[in-house]
This record gives sequence, C-alpha cells and structure tokens, in this order.
Amino acid sequence: MSEFWSDVVKGLTPYVPGEQPRLANLVKLNTNENPYGPSPRVLKAIRGAVDEDLRLYPDPNAEALKEAIADHHDVTTINVFVGNGSDEILAHVFLGLLKHSQPVLFPDITYSFYPVYCGLYEIAFNTVPLADDFSIRIADYARPNGGNIGGIIFPNPNAPTGRAISLAEIEQLLQMHPHTVIVIDEAYVDFGGESAIPLTHRYPNLLVVHTFSKSRSLAGLRVGFAIGHADLIEALERVKNSFNSYPLDRLAIAGAIAALEDKAHFERTRKAVIHSREGLVSALDALGFEVLPSVANFVFVRHPQHDAEKSALALRQRGIVVRHFKLPRIEQFLRITIGTDDQCATLINALREIL
Ligand code: PMP
Repeated sequence: MSEFWSDVVKGLTPYVPGEQPRLANLVKLNTNENPYGPSPRVLKAIRGAVDEDLRLYPDPNAEALKEAIADHHDVTTINVFVGNGSDEILAHVFLGLLKHSQPVLFPDITYSFYPVYCGLYEIAFNTVPLADDFSIRIADYARPNGGNIGGIIFPNPNAPTGRAISLAEIEQLLQMHPHTVIVIDEAYVDFGGESAIPLTHRYPNLLVVHTFSKSRSLAGLRVGFAIGHADLIEALERVKNSFNSYPLDRLAIAGAIAALEDKAHFERTRKAVIHSREGLVSALDALGFEVLPSVANFVFVRHPQHDAEKSALALRQRGIVVRHFKLPRIEQFLRITIGTDDQCATLINALREIL
C-alpha cells in the first residue's frame, strides 16, 4: 500500500474473477462461459470489420447495434444503452442510477461485484438474506429497517445459486417501490428464466441488464446492454460520456450485430446447454450431490459427505476447473458451469474417482 493512495483506494477489496487458466487439456467449468462458441457469422463480421477501417473511430453511439437490440426486444433505441460487457454497465448503474444517500439493497449471496462497486463509489448498502432454500424472497425487500432505499439490484437467475424468481414477483417488487430504481441483471436469463424486459414498458423505474458473454458466447468481445425508460438510459449516457465517448470498438459492434442476426445458432446452443444441464443434474444427483434447481448455465451443488474445497482441488489436479467460494453459508458449495456433454461426462467420471 503506498502513501500516495487515496483512502478510497486503500479501502477497496476488488472483485477477483475466477481462474483463467491456459486452456490446453483443461476442462474449464469455472466462469460460466458458453462451450459452443459464437456464431460463424460473428467471426465473419469481425473479420469484415478488420478489413474495413480501424483507422477510424467507431460510432460513439453504436447506433447500428442499438437498433439491432431495440428490434430484437421490441423497444426503441432511446431505451437501449450499450457498454463493454455488463460489468461496465453495472458500474455506471451504481455511479449514476442508484442513490448514494440511502442504502442500496441486494441479496447476501449474489454477484460479488455489487459490493465492490459500492466500495468504489462509497455507496451504503444492506444485504437481504436469501431464504433457507437459497431463493430470493420479495417480501424481504419491503423496507428493511423501515428506512428509504437507494435502489435494489439482483441477478435473475441469481448467481451463484442459479435460482430464479417469476415475473409476477418482480412486478410485485416494482409495485412495492414505484419511486426506487430496480435493476434486474439478466446475465443468465436465456438459459431458462423469464426476461423482465416487457415490464420496462410499464415501469419507468425498471432497468434490465443483459450480456453477450453467456448465451451469445462472446465473453471475450465485451458487450453488454441495458433496457429501460428513456430517462434511465439518459442517466447512463451521461455517466458514460463523462468517462469515455466510445463505448464499443468497431469489432465489438460488428460482432454483436451479427450475433443477434443468427437466431438459429442462438437457439441451438442455448437449448444444447439446457439439455446438458438436465443430464448433469441427474448425474450429480446420482452421486449424492444436493443440486439447487438451476435455470442458468451453471449448477450450484453440495455433497453432504465431501468437503467442497477438497473436491475442487482434486478436480483441479485432474485438469477440471470449477468454482469454490470461501464465503459464509456457501463454503460447502461448488459452482459448476455447464460444458459440452463430453466435458460433463469427464467431470462426472472424475467425481466418481474422487468421492
Ligand atoms: N452479472 C452477473 C450476475 C454475472 O455473473 C456476470 C459474469 N461474471 C456479469 C454480470 C458480467 O458479465 P459481462 O461483464 O461479461 O457482461
């Protein structure tokens, strides 16, 4: 720690992403990437963009991509914000949309970047415990401690649990807090959840955040978007333009548009992940794991007789990487990304040896 660091920087505990090992001979099931890769049309579009003019700045508004997203989700471009992955959008949300004077609410077990942004921007927050079955209980968001709220944010499906709540429950939350910004992070929604995007037409306080990293298999390209009322989007544009006038580079814009165009690839790969998840859940169940019901591209599991950290290490020694969180209440869980059927079989065979 340097004497030149500000107090804010001294107090930060940055998010540590899952291990990103070199892929050779590894079965990488720790950061919820998609095993199938993007549509070939994405690669072609990116190659085309390389051959165009990288000398020129990209469109500062990424208008063509916003149009493609707006078309896809039945909104207009003034309802669409784009950024370098949903992480960047979430950072803008914490800085510009959630009130800093009152605590922001999110679940106690959730995406670990949320408290990191609160630390960075010095935002007060309260965590709301998940129910005993690890689900989000809307009634608990009524008004904990009786005070005002700076905003509510959670992923649906939640991470790392994979559990989702219904649109009816989200609507109940929106009605409970008509004057509070509510952000639903739908990074994993395409694997079996219900998107809240249609609700943005009726609730001006709802922002829905999506990513191209998971169901579109473009984690390396860094593209995310948010949909909400034009006023919310304008706030995000103000924050963004105070950081950087070019949210996305030319390759990202071209690749993301092509990804939206290839609906067949999207459907095929998304369904393949869901199908493999069902197979993996049965196989883990047969090995004695308790598996939380997941509608995401990962499962969250614990074994009543085997220590999670030891199992993760034993898998790692066999070239299989899964995620173990050393956090209260979930230290006996493993989060396993849904790989191809072959990768899932390799995992199950390794677990048979280990357990
Ligand atoms: N939200 C959640 C719940 C996530 O798990 C992730 C991925 N780690 C993200 C957002 C960020 O995804 P990206 O920045 O790749 O869009």
